[in-house]
Formats: sequence, C-alpha cells, structure tokens
Amino acid sequence: MSATIQCPYCNAPRITGGFDNYSPFYVNCPECSRRYIVEPVRNGVVVYRDGEAPCCSDPDCRATEMAGSGQE
Ligand SMILES: [Zn+2]
Repeated sequence: MSATIQCPYCNAPRITGGFDNYSPFYVNCPECSRRYIVEPVRNGVVVYRDGEAPCCSDPDCRATEMAGSGQE
C-alpha cells in the first residue's frame, strides 16, 4: 500500500508506502523541514499538521496514553 501525501505546510508532494498497519507516524518534510503526521486509513491517508491531530492520531499522544494506562 502506498499513497501520495502533501505537506500541509508547503504542499510538497511525497510518496509514502510500506504501511504495516494503520498507526499514525511522523514525516519530516524534505522541503520545509517541518514535521507533520500521516495516518493511513482504509481509503488512503490523512495528513495533520504537528499538534493538530486528535490524540488517537498523534503518535506521541498515543504513546503517552499507553504508558499512562499501565496496561498492554
Ligand atoms: Zn513542507
């Protein structure tokens, strides 16, 4: 599975692929060097600016929540 994503800051296109699952991940834009979040979904991908994603779509927030729950 691969998809073309666009940087939400400078609109630089980028092809991403090799998703193992639907976990969101960070991408560092090679054009503007800013970080954004890409979340694979069933019909493509959703792109969020860093800090604008809902917690369930934010890798850091998810990690914090899982650590906080103390259960695996
Ligand atoms: Zn960019």
